Amino acid sequence: MTQIYDRVALIGLGLIASSMAHAMKRAGLAGEIVGYARSAETRDIAREIGFCDQICDSATEAAQGADLIVLCVPVGAMESVAVEIAPVLKAGATVSDVGSVKRAVIDAVAKHLPEGVHFVPAHPLAGTEHSGPRSGFAELFDNRWCIIVPDLCEDETVIARLENLWRAMGSNVDRMDADHHDLVLAVTSHTPHLIAYTMVGVADDLSRVTDSEVIKYSAAGFRDFTRIAASDPTMWRDVFLNNKEATLEILGRFTEELFVLQRAIREGNGEHLHDYFTRTRSIRRSIIEAGQDTAAPNFGRTSSTKP
Ligand code: NAP
Repeated sequence: MTQIYDRVALIGLGLIASSMAHAMKRAGLAGEIVGYARSAETRDIAREIGFCDQICDSATEAAQGADLIVLCVPVGAMESVAVEIAPVLKAGATVSDVGSVKRAVIDAVAKHLPEGVHFVPAHPLAGTEHSGPRSGFAELFDNRWCIIVPDLCEDETVIARLENLWRAMGSNVDRMDADHHDLVLAVTSHTPHLIAYTMVGVADDLSRVTDSEVIKYSAAGFRDFTRIAASDPTMWRDVFLNNKEATLEILGRFTEELFVLQRAIREGNGEHLHDYFTRTRSIRRSIIEAGQDTAAPNFGRTSSTKP
């Protein structure tokens, strides 16, 4: 594949940045990939693995001369990074990010960027419960969606170039405005994470009563909640603090539905429960038909991974 950017700077070197570097190297998409992370420990690990051509000791050194700078830090850290790198950004450069929330990132970052620098936020809908520079891999974005939020960029060639990068890293690409993105993600990702965190918290309280039976008998349903609830605490704290409105809106609807189901159970209304579960089952089918998950039983786990 052909090179899309001469110099790409990745600020933050965790799961997403390291996966981007691996994916860019796999297809030869950047002339040079440079990286920076705040801790010396992460920078040393990144040097040892070698997914970047150069690891810098400051964000400004990494961003200097870069054609594309991607902010790959938690949402709450985007602003301080933008403030730091703004003075060294070259004219015509593109700044992007991979944050899980878009409106708050735009509000925090755009005002600090100099005239002549393009800002095109993005959000790859791909991840695992692991974090840090060792957790990245080239295939993370394959056949996953990456949402581009071009609200602030009027130059179509700049947007198309970033979209080409994400496609060449394996993603399908779509465009959304920031508010729509935040609402969609509140439904598909943020609220489900909050529910998983809650369910695991409830079970943890219960396990004290039942003397670890919750862990011992944690079969598919609960085990899948625990995987989601193992996601990075800093990242998810920042998601909820920065996508407050949309998450609270969806959580409100969720609570209403939960009360209706609670009532159906209390009243023995089997018809309501059956209709509801039939509707949700068809949603699962359409996710599989769209190629976004496996139809294999138990999410494709082999029997050796069963408890
Ligand atoms: P990660 O593996 O935890 O890596 C985060 C990186 O940011 C680390 O290199 C960390 O540096 C650096 N960092 C943390 N706090 C910082 C601060 N205050 N100032 C400067 N650097 C800081 O995280 P990730 O999963 O790659 O997530 C990065 C971004 O991608 C987040 O905005 C997240 O919302 C978004 N995202 C995540 C997923 C997912 O599933 N994980 C999916 C899509 C998008 P040190 O290692 O030195 O601490």
